[in-house]
Amino acid sequence: MVSLDIKTAFLIWGAQTATLSILLFSVWAHDRKQMHFFAMAFGFACHGVGMVMIALSHSPLMSWPLYISNLIALGSFCFWIAAFRLLDRRKIGVHLLLPPVVWIGAMLFPGIAESFAFRASVHEVASFLGFALLAYTIVTSQFGTRKYRHILAGLWFTQSLNCLLVAAILLQRQPKDMTFIPYSAFFGVIGVFCLMSVLIVMFKIVMDQNHSLLETLSRTDPLTGTLNRRGLQDAMVKLSQKARKDELLALLVFDLDYFKNINDNFGHQAGDTVLQSFAGMCSSIVMTHGLFARTGGEEFSAVLRVTDLRQAAAIAEQVRHMIATTPIVTDRGVVRLTTSIGISGLAPAAFDYDRLMRDADNALYKAKTEGRNKIGICRNGQIFCITRTEERGTPDAIDTEADRQVAALRRLSHRASPATE
Ligand code: GH3
Ligand code: MG
Ligand code: MG
Repeated sequence: MVSLDIKTAFLIWGAQTATLSILLFSVWAHDRKQMHFFAMAFGFACHGVGMVMIALSHSPLMSWPLYISNLIALGSFCFWIAAFRLLDRRKIGVHLLLPPVVWIGAMLFPGIAESFAFRASVHEVASFLGFALLAYTIVTSQFGTRKYRHILAGLWFTQSLNCLLVAAILLQRQPKDMTFIPYSAFFGVIGVFCLMSVLIVMFKIVMDQNHSLLETLSRTDPLTGTLNRRGLQDAMVKLSQKARKDELLALLVFDLDYFKNINDNFGHQAGDTVLQSFAGMCSSIVMTHGLFARTGGEEFSAVLRVTDLRQAAAIAEQVRHMIATTPIVTDRGVVRLTTSIGISGLAPAAFDYDRLMRDADNALYKAKTEGRNKIGICRNGQIFCITRTEERGTPDAIDTEADRQVAALRRLSHRASPATE
């Protein structure tokens, strides 16, 4: 029967973890912002190097203090825990130093340091703490799905119990060196099984994360960081389902005025800065009421949950006024900008994106033809422009308002006595 001695097993284990480490380093080199891959790779490197050093520590060729080999192997826990905290965007914390600190503390006692059984059991206790900390880190994390986090935590909990059991057996049997560690093959198989399962689950979590990142990117406008048209259409359906019956879904369509002139006079780069500033200012106002997106080159849209069209018009006026009164600083000079806005609305139950868009586009066209820097509203098929804040109370505005009121009264009287039509 072929038997595998424990030193050879440690060497094979070291070679495997070194391969994993190289693989993870190359993943990190591909995208250096993903520091969790770097920490994970470093963890496997430490583990592999530490295990090989432990296996070779008494060979005639090489000799180094066992304290160092164990310390390097246990240092892997620090990097693994750090990797999961980085993946979860959390602070790293000093608790991850516990496994190596326990080892260093125990080695200060000569009675422990000079006995193989005590030393090995301290290593197992420190590993137990390392795996328990990994399980705790994963249980309190947010990344991936709950299901996979629980599987990972379960696997590490099993490994921590495995280590505790080995520590107890070592203390009871008091072997003189590592060739006499009882049941080592059995505990080794559990360790390998857990490690392989952890790697498979981690692979699945990383794949899922990359998938959801791609999904987010496909719904985001790269220049402004807002939703793009596709993102808006998807999010809008959810918003319409969330809206209450007594609310209105209003669509605001923004088109920057004479934007081509801005590009021509200040350059395309400055034009991009203007688009970013516009998106920043506009979203700061409308996002508390719903969604905001860049739906074309210099066209943006917002879908808002409002009580009525009047509230939508007030929000639009806030945006129009802010844009018209805020100079935008670019590398090529200060740019003054205005926007025209078209508004339409529908009850959530009657939600129809195409109809909303058609009505808002018609209202926007009215705002453009009436001189730009204006807001057009489509209400019950009627399209009109609202008076700007700064013009309210002027003779022109009062005339326009009076005309509108007369028109509204006429409409009402037509409705009240249709036979007279
Ligand atoms: P109007 O008031 O009628 O809307 O006039 P306008 O000049 O804004 O309209 P027009 O549609 O003629 O011009 C839109 C311009 O927007 C043309 C195009 O070069 C510019 N544009 C579209 N996408 C981008 C972009 O991503 N960056 C920059 N800098 N310019 C863009
Ligand atoms: Mg346009
Ligand atoms: Mg335009």
